[in-house]
Amino acid sequence: MSLTLPPFQNEPYSDFTKAPNRRAMDLALAQVRLELGRTYPLWIDGSAVETGDLLVSTNPSHASEVVGSCHKASAELATEAVESAFSYFPKWAATPVDKRVQLLLGAAAMLRQRQQEFNAWLIVESGKNWNEAEADTGEAIDFCEYYARQMLRWSHPEPLVQMDGETSKLDYIPLGVGVIIPPWNFPLAIMVGMTVAALVAGNTVVLKPSSETPVIAAKFVELLLEAGFPEHSVNLCIGSGSVVGDLLVTHPKTRFVSFTGSREVGLRINELAAKHQPGQVWIRRVVAEMGGKDAIIVDENADLDAAVTGVMLSAFGFQGQKCSACSRAIVHAKVYDSFLEKLKAKVETIRQGPAEDVENYMGPVISAGARKTILGYMEIGKREGRLLTGGGMAAGDGWYLQPTVIADVAPSARIFQEEIFGPVLAVTKARDFEEALRMANDSEYGLTGAVYSQDRARLDRASREFHVGNLYLNRKCTGAMVGAHPFGGFNMSGTDSKAGGPDYLLQFLQGKLIAEKV
Ligand code: NAP
Repeated sequence: MSLTLPPFQNEPYSDFTKAPNRRAMDLALAQVRLELGRTYPLWIDGSAVETGDLLVSTNPSHASEVVGSCHKASAELATEAVESAFSYFPKWAATPVDKRVQLLLGAAAMLRQRQQEFNAWLIVESGKNWNEAEADTGEAIDFCEYYARQMLRWSHPEPLVQMDGETSKLDYIPLGVGVIIPPWNFPLAIMVGMTVAALVAGNTVVLKPSSETPVIAAKFVELLLEAGFPEHSVNLCIGSGSVVGDLLVTHPKTRFVSFTGSREVGLRINELAAKHQPGQVWIRRVVAEMGGKDAIIVDENADLDAAVTGVMLSAFGFQGQKCSACSRAIVHAKVYDSFLEKLKAKVETIRQGPAEDVENYMGPVISAGARKTILGYMEIGKREGRLLTGGGMAAGDGWYLQPTVIADVAPSARIFQEEIFGPVLAVTKARDFEEALRMANDSEYGLTGAVYSQDRARLDRASREFHVGNLYLNRKCTGAMVGAHPFGGFNMSGTDSKAGGPDYLLQFLQGKLIAEKV
């Protein structure tokens, strides 16, 4: 009798306007503050490993505050991690699916129990506001619950056509060692989703988290081990992508790479992974989810207040540091001026400051380097268009930037074409809906997009012609929910793996046909 589970449901969010929820988060933040500055080991070949070579992670809201220090892997340790994952793979692959699923559900339960604590780590290590942190942890739990159910489904595949005198079945079996390389902007949700999808499918993993958010990854690997995942099923290989990245990707025993991050690094990984190495007996699989330059079209007959709110939330939520963030608003000429007026008024009410203060909607950007790059784009934007609001640094002892809107931007402008990954929105006037659609598609990316319109025919046309992996009609273009909005982009946005969707696990499995003469 195999495991049956109740249907998947998204994790409900806490409402932080309610005093008990605020108190619980205040307590968690106070507790996490007591733990700041600790040191975390690597986890390689079933043991905690210390190298003495430390990566120091700081709080972007208060740049001199140390969140924690993590031991970094050497090239030798990275190699050992892949070798160990390879040796343990047959055992983990042979572990019954029900057992793997139960372990994952156990990890989900522990995350749920420690939700406020993980929220607090997200607030201090990545500068997420309370609601963004709650959504990040909630999504991490959702990924665990959803992929657990999806693995049960793949373990009972659709029956095949049965030939006379034969039985045949298709088994989905795991691939081998997966190198997991997540970004820092959903330090828990994306890292957890990528890791557990590979694990529950029966693969062993080497997790190389982002150097911006290693403490959250170290906390999660601790949790996986506490939840009972075998000590050799997972390796935590913290280290700079440029030092250990190539080695992990090109190791002949690496069977697949699951990457989420920038276009540049994704393309490099794809190229390196494609090269056959001596002793390698497979074509390495690459899942690469990359950047975005996401547009929201505002039509002449749109509900303008809803559109302004949707653009504002999509552009400045988590300081615009989402692959799905709206970085281009393309507005019909007939409503362009009133849209700009309303948007400016709305953006100028955004409250900004340290992420630990629940009243702040915008916190800092992730690092000094990110702030410098984004400031550079703000200056380019001032030359390419008309500065409507913002345009520089904001006060504070962290990496603060003003929410910035540049109007009258031409489609050929760099700020219309290049991913900025910060709080900078380009606004462009379109003659008509036709031109708006053309401008929206004038991008090498194709991740998310949205259309605000009350014209059914135009919404239908956008459904056919707006070429993005995730299209939203009359709503914002961020905030994909596991199970409801499978996520992944077209073109230079990646391999369209549709995280949180019913097909995602298939990328970490291979089908084995078994036909028997009877
Ligand atoms: P990134 O700089 O490309 O880094 C992503 C990961 O790759 C990090 O763990 C990084 O490690 C690692 N890395 C860097 N160089 C490497 C190399 N040569 N070999 C192997 N790994 C290497 O991206 P990010 O700044 O973390 O994240 C922001 C980007 O992610 C944006 O472009 C955003 O649009 C994209 N993103 C896409 C999605 C999606 O679903 N499409 C979701 C979220 C984010 P280090 O930190 O050690 O360098």
